[in-house]
Amino acid sequence: MKELVILGSTGSIGTQAIEVAEREGFRITALTAGSNSKLLEAQARKLKPLVVALADENAAADLKVRLRDTDIKVLSGTKGVSEAAAGSGDIVLNSIVGIAGLLPTLAAIDNGKTIALANKETLVTGGEIVNRRAKEKDVKILPVDSEHSAIFQSLQGAPKGSLKKILLTASGGPFYNKTKKELQNVTVNDALKHPNWSMGAKITIDSATLMNKGLEVIEAVHLFGLDASKIEVLVHRQSILHSAVELTDGAVIAQLGTPDMRLPIQYALTYPARSQNAFERLSLTDIGTLTFEKPDIDTFRCLPLCIEAIAKGGLYPTAVNGANEEAVRLFLEGKIKFLKIAELVETALATAENKNDFTVEDILYTDKMAREAVLNAIN
Ligand code: NAD
Ligand code: MG
Repeated sequence: MKELVILGSTGSIGTQAIEVAEREGFRITALTAGSNSKLLEAQARKLKPLVVALADENAAADLKVRLRDTDIKVLSGTKGVSEAAAGSGDIVLNSIVGIAGLLPTLAAIDNGKTIALANKETLVTGGEIVNRRAKEKDVKILPVDSEHSAIFQSLQGAPKGSLKKILLTASGGPFYNKTKKELQNVTVNDALKHPNWSMGAKITIDSATLMNKGLEVIEAVHLFGLDASKIEVLVHRQSILHSAVELTDGAVIAQLGTPDMRLPIQYALTYPARSQNAFERLSLTDIGTLTFEKPDIDTFRCLPLCIEAIAKGGLYPTAVNGANEEAVRLFLEGKIKFLKIAELVETALATAENKNDFTVEDILYTDKMAREAVLNAIN
């Protein structure tokens, strides 16, 4: 029986991953979350992992009391989450949100685990280091993000070196076709209404600003080794064609399906096998029309800013990511307006200090500086 660790098990991807893993017959050895002790307790009682961890120290203390009648070990803090990631398990599925996922990913790689990666911020900030260490440890990184899973699936059987271009699709989010003027006073509730996917709050706001697609361009650069200039973003409102690749001879190969994250989660867990499930099947005649358009990069500035950040390389992607994480938090708390998010990301890109041959500590420092700059800019 294969052993699985799920990081971020209380979230949107995490809960779906538990469902898939149970059906696929995995033994779940560890579960971790940020602060939701109640849900983690319920998951732990049902799945009986060896270890659970909460990043929030107070919540972890609460969980320890809740689970005192069991043999389950309760760890706490960011160290505890990384310890859980490095412990017993063959595969670590990382569905933590934000740069908080970076250190646990590295801890898992260093201990030779296969990584099923939903946490795109891991690669956005630490892509070079993660790839280097994964190569050293001969560890596979399997994408869970639907677009990257589609690219990965489309590449099965393609000869090495034959990938020439990536067609990365985007739904366009809730504010598709809106002008800057119309976006001036949109609310948190408006931004949380994603047309095709139900996801955590942070990625839903990122989808509304197109920051998510920018982060995904950076993620694709690290996963597939292409330059950002070879990645074309296409707005595809139906979210049916999850992304495509163009190969040497001009053939374009894509993966299509209904919008359901359980399929990319399942493929990462069963790779290279394909297993049966009861997910809704795609009917192309029901869908009828698939449309593709260029994104509006003048209105949705986060996308070109991310592309600029990865073209400059180094610590720039970390700076734009950190500024965005902080800005999204402030937007969700009602403290800044929607369009301010892109402004703050732009300032981060313009003011970040770069370094060649950077370390994990440099990444964490750059993230901290970008967050502080955002707080200073709004106070
Ligand atoms: P979510 O907010 O629903 O869940 C996040 C999980 O991370 C929760 O379990 C939370 O407790 C945990 N967490 C939060 N802060 C933490 C911290 N500091 N330390 C440790 N754990 C922490 O988010 P989600 O929508 O499931 O997204 C998770 C990741 O997957 C993100 O990187 C997102 O971009 C990516 N992703 C999500 C989807 C989706 O459909 N939801 C699709 C593609 C990619
Ligand atoms: Mg995606």
